[in-house]
Amino acid sequence: MSQTPFPTKTIEGYPRVGANRELKRALESYWAGRIDRPTFESAAHSLRVDTYARLKDLGLDDDYAIPADVAYYDQVLETALTVGALGGDAEDVSLDEEFTLARGNADTAPLEMTKWFDTNYHYIVPEISADQSFTARPQRLLKLVDEAREAGHTIRPYLVGPVTVLALSKAAESTAADGTTNPLDRLDDLAKSYAKVFAALKEAGVEWVQVAEPALVADHIGISDAELADRAGAIWTELLSSEDRPQVYLTTPYGSLQAGLDKLLAAAPEAFQVDVSRPTQALDSNYLGRIKEAVAKSPQTTLVAGLVDGRNVWAGDLNALVQTGEELGVKHVTTSVSLQHVPHTVEAEKNLPVDVAGWFSFADEKISEVVAVAAALDGKRDEVEQTFARSERALRTRKESERTHNEAVAKRVATLPEGQVAREPKFAERTEIQEELGLPKLPTTTIGSFPQTKQIRGARADHRAGKLTDEQYVEELRGEIASVIKLQEDLGIDVLVHGEPERNDMVQYFAELLDGFVVTENGWVQSYGSRCTRPPIVVGDVSRPEAMTTEWAKYAQSLSDKHVKGMLTGPVTILAWSFIRDDVHQSVSADQIGVALADEVADLEESGIDIIQIDEPALRELLPLRESDRASYLDWAVRAFRLVSLEAKPKTQIHTHLCYSEFGQIIDAVAALDADVTSIEAARSRMELLEDLNDSFTSEIGPGIYDIHSPRIPSVEEMEELIRAALKNVDEKRLWINPDCGLKTRGYKETEESLRNMVTARNNVVESLK
Ligand code: GLN
Ligand code: ZN
Repeated sequence: MSQTPFPTKTIEGYPRVGANRELKRALESYWAGRIDRPTFESAAHSLRVDTYARLKDLGLDDDYAIPADVAYYDQVLETALTVGALGGDAEDVSLDEEFTLARGNADTAPLEMTKWFDTNYHYIVPEISADQSFTARPQRLLKLVDEAREAGHTIRPYLVGPVTVLALSKAAESTAADGTTNPLDRLDDLAKSYAKVFAALKEAGVEWVQVAEPALVADHIGISDAELADRAGAIWTELLSSEDRPQVYLTTPYGSLQAGLDKLLAAAPEAFQVDVSRPTQALDSNYLGRIKEAVAKSPQTTLVAGLVDGRNVWAGDLNALVQTGEELGVKHVTTSVSLQHVPHTVEAEKNLPVDVAGWFSFADEKISEVVAVAAALDGKRDEVEQTFARSERALRTRKESERTHNEAVAKRVATLPEGQVAREPKFAERTEIQEELGLPKLPTTTIGSFPQTKQIRGARADHRAGKLTDEQYVEELRGEIASVIKLQEDLGIDVLVHGEPERNDMVQYFAELLDGFVVTENGWVQSYGSRCTRPPIVVGDVSRPEAMTTEWAKYAQSLSDKHVKGMLTGPVTILAWSFIRDDVHQSVSADQIGVALADEVADLEESGIDIIQIDEPALRELLPLRESDRASYLDWAVRAFRLVSLEAKPKTQIHTHLCYSEFGQIIDAVAALDADVTSIEAARSRMELLEDLNDSFTSEIGPGIYDIHSPRIPSVEEMEELIRAALKNVDEKRLWINPDCGLKTRGYKETEESLRNMVTARNNVVESLK
């Protein structure tokens, strides 16, 4: 029986939350008990079949062109459930089972969540034990296939591959204790489960299944690229040797393959996707050549080129994409990665500045690009002339725009030294000068935000809706600042903060005030589960039209004799949580944001602020997937941060804050930020990370002594113990006492009690040091 060939135009995946966030609403209503299960399921069903119909209209009209990468919560979680990697052996997976794993309940903690490759999407981390069994549970996929068929669509079921699931899993606690098991050791057993799922799909008449193996494009701790590729090659050879399966579309989004390229192709999947987007080629300039060579050795495989960049929001350079496609000799076009990382459609944006609106391609527009490039590669460019014309216009107007060539910014940046920059004098000297600040031993502080109450959020909404005047809104926020200052004074905290009530979000706040950014109204992308964010877009050169934080800081400082810390978000974090430009290297925008923030530092100093914190919680997030790319990333990231504090007075104490404890990989870079004080997350790892501190790390340090991610109030004793543990590795002259992140998600009651205990714990320790 002849099989359907692979479609010439497809995508790797599509946003699943819905153009109007239908899935988010349905999920949250269901979790809150406002709707019952059938109502939830019917909402999710409608969203899926409506989406398939939309994708078909957009041009994905061949059988199997539409990937069913749908998930209620997360694709890794749903794949892991389907192949029985999370226990359970009922054929079908229940909603309760799935949501308990993702969100926990009264008796069970949820599974961990972490970043999916170098995106801002977070997946659920499966826990794999040495002796668990894997029971295939294909029911979920079969239902999707049937549901689509009934609505007239032949969709392509989607799974994350076995190598990727295990490479991204962690060993279950019971197993980890003996330290011997790596989840990848279970690859053979897990693959058997995939084979059963494949067999069930075949029996249901499915002719193509998509299996994503992006683990092969990244370096992993504990296994070399070559060894991972060997294992992947072996397991895929085995899986593909069976006849009892649909044709396999094996995909490798998010970067370039090294050893994995030959190994996976040698297993001879029927179709094979590579990410050949511009950013991926920029990191691996030989990639096209190596793909051509490898594919020549594997003539039975259809190469599918991930030409359209699924990670940015820009209208693509279609002529260039066609050229790449021709160079590769392909007829089959897709996106570099799933479109789940971009918003649905530019059509939903009614208030973009007119000159930039035409520059964007979100998910739907990118599908038109796939369709157009595929048509051109098939010799039918005349049929898609309009899409090409749109692309050319976008590129031309963007290039000519003053937004991308701001002379004032260019002049300013041209005065900067090249290469690494360094604040003078050095830390050793600064720290002596900063003794003037008169801080006590083991000073206490917080990370910046205080609880964002209903009242503040209400005031912000009312202000936006025009129900509060600017003056009324400012009054409201000042009231909040005054009460936060008073609370900190009552608690006896040493270095105060204003509490950040004016910030909806630590990046969006600055993006709205800086030139060179635009914000969208409906540009939601899934962050995890039902949570979506609306990343700002860097459209051009960035500059600061006026001071952004000084009024709040000045007001807060006027209320107290203690030091109030100024609070800024650093350049790397601002970029990490925005959509970036694709016409200049990220480091260009980073430098521009760096100088804009340097001006803010100067204005804060001018306003009488002596301590300034520059948050960089995303420093590690942007770390490239390949080790070999990390040094150059850290170079520009560290430089951008240093630019912010470069001209700060020696007496100004610069703090930074990072939100994680897995420090090892970037500890030298954190030291290189050259902040005077660094606060990090440490409570959950019980201060163990301080043992990693090496000689390069000389600054003062505030290892968070309580975990703000939980409403639990830590006792005086436990915090005292943590402080004493910290003192084993950090000299008392260098140690600060603080929570491990901002308090905005907490309530006031727990915050107050926790901070009171924190100050008491500090006092007890200081007493005993005398
Ligand atoms: N200053 C910010 C706050 O306290 C830092 C947030 C963060 O680290 N993510 O909320
Ligand atoms: Zn934090």
